[in-house]
Amino acid sequence: MANRTPLIAGNWKLHKDCAESIAFAEALNKAIPADIDVDVMVAPTFTALYPVCECLKTSPIAVAAQDMFWETKGAWTGEISAEMIRSCGCTHVIIGHSERRQFFGETDETVNAKLKAALSAGLIPVICIGETDEERKAEKTFEVLETQVKMGLKGLSAAELSSAVLAYEPVWAIGTGNTATPEMVQEVHAFLRKVVADGFQKELANAMRILYGGSVKSGNIAELMALEDVDGALVGGASLETESFSGIVRYK
Ligand code: PEP
Repeated sequence: MANRTPLIAGNWKLHKDCAESIAFAEALNKAIPADIDVDVMVAPTFTALYPVCECLKTSPIAVAAQDMFWETKGAWTGEISAEMIRSCGCTHVIIGHSERRQFFGETDETVNAKLKAALSAGLIPVICIGETDEERKAEKTFEVLETQVKMGLKGLSAAELSSAVLAYEPVWAIGTGNTATPEMVQEVHAFLRKVVADGFQKELANAMRILYGGSVKSGNIAELMALEDVDGALVGGASLETESFSGIVRYK
């Protein structure tokens, strides 16, 4: 059984301007012990990436972008490349969040293009997948997730994917207060590890961190982290306040 360091990641979405992001990063840095034995990551808005990276330069808290574009440069008005994200000081990037899929036309093909560009730039990708309520009710959960993993990770070798993190985020659990039950989460995470083992490599599957996301809070994190195949959490709403996010980080 691989020794996977847990990762607790906060997605700030469209919240906090530059000043608020800096103040929050400073507060988190004070609240989270420097010798904490879990990896911690925050994902501010694009405009706050550089100042937050500067503020957290000497802290154990890693900084991620919430999205990226797959091209490196050119006439792509409004887009941000993986290299630009790196140049801010970021080490991670979230790819394929369900809100990007739902509202901004993200597909498994664009996830795959972004993933390749992120890895080429040396960013650690947090690749989000998850079924909708309709898909779960239609008993298509496993089929949907398998396609998202296979298409999203297509064309990459186990060695190239060694840093990649998967985040299982059932769409119906995001921002709704409806956390998936521990049984559902463990069942899906074990399935995802098998999909990675069968489609790529057993060692990669054993080493890959699989996060759960969907209404995670300080009150349910310990129960989720106790599950064999859960290696951390991607947190939205509860990552926006110092007390709630640091409470999740200190779940043990
Ligand atoms: C998310 O958006 O990735 C998320 C999990 O949100 P929340 O924690 O608010 O459900």
